[in-house]
Amino acid sequence: MPQRKPIIAANWKMYKTAAEAEMFVKEVKEKLPANDMVESVICAPFTALPALSRAVEGTPIRTGAQNMHWETEGAFTGEISPLMLKEWQITYVVIGHSERRQYFNESDEMVNRKVHAAFQHDLIPIVCVGENLQERESGETGAVIRRQTEAAIKGLNAHQCARLVIAYEPIWAIGSGKSSTPQDAAEQIGFIRSVLRESVGAEAAEQVRIQYGGSVKPENIDGFLNETEIDGALVGGASLKAESFLSLVKSAATKES
Ligand code: PGA
Repeated sequence: MPQRKPIIAANWKMYKTAAEAEMFVKEVKEKLPANDMVESVICAPFTALPALSRAVEGTPIRTGAQNMHWETEGAFTGEISPLMLKEWQITYVVIGHSERRQYFNESDEMVNRKVHAAFQHDLIPIVCVGENLQERESGETGAVIRRQTEAAIKGLNAHQCARLVIAYEPIWAIGSGKSSTPQDAAEQIGFIRSVLRESVGAEAAEQVRIQYGGSVKPENIDGFLNETEIDGALVGGASLKAESFLSLVKSAATKES
């Protein structure tokens, strides 16, 4: 079985100016573990990306955007294209976060277009999937994450799929302080991997890194990382403080695979 390197991705959401992003990198860069054990990523607001990108030069930190349009350019007021991200050496892009699906009406089809556009421009998508509370309570979790996963990867070849990162984020756990249990998260992530296996074959499916997200913090990350199925975390609130981000990355660097 191929070894998957754990990935801790900070999702800063609509927090931090360019100056604050620079300050954050200054605080963490000397203290980060080497990146052969763990990959650390910061997904910042668009306006902070140029400064962030310069600040992380020569450090193990990779940068990510939190969204993008699928077209290269055009009359799409307020949007940012993959080309514009490439100009700043961005490596990752979060696609289909539940807040985008919920507040900005992003559909499964839009997520799929964005995933294809990301690969066309050599960006690695971090695709978010996850059920809401009502879906969980009515026993639809499996159906929802199957639909979102299949839609997101539609039309990808096995090589592209293998490079993908998926974040399983149950919506009821995001920002609520109420995380999923590690066992439950591992079960859903195992299910996502089985859906991938059906679509693109075992070899590619085994390489996909699947993170858990939803109220992950330094106090509970080890429980998630102890599950072999869980390849790291997508972290909102607890990624905003340098000390807490460092502690998350250090925990992942010691994960036994
Ligand atoms: P949270 O957010 O860690 O604040 O729950 C996670 C996310 O939305 O990616």
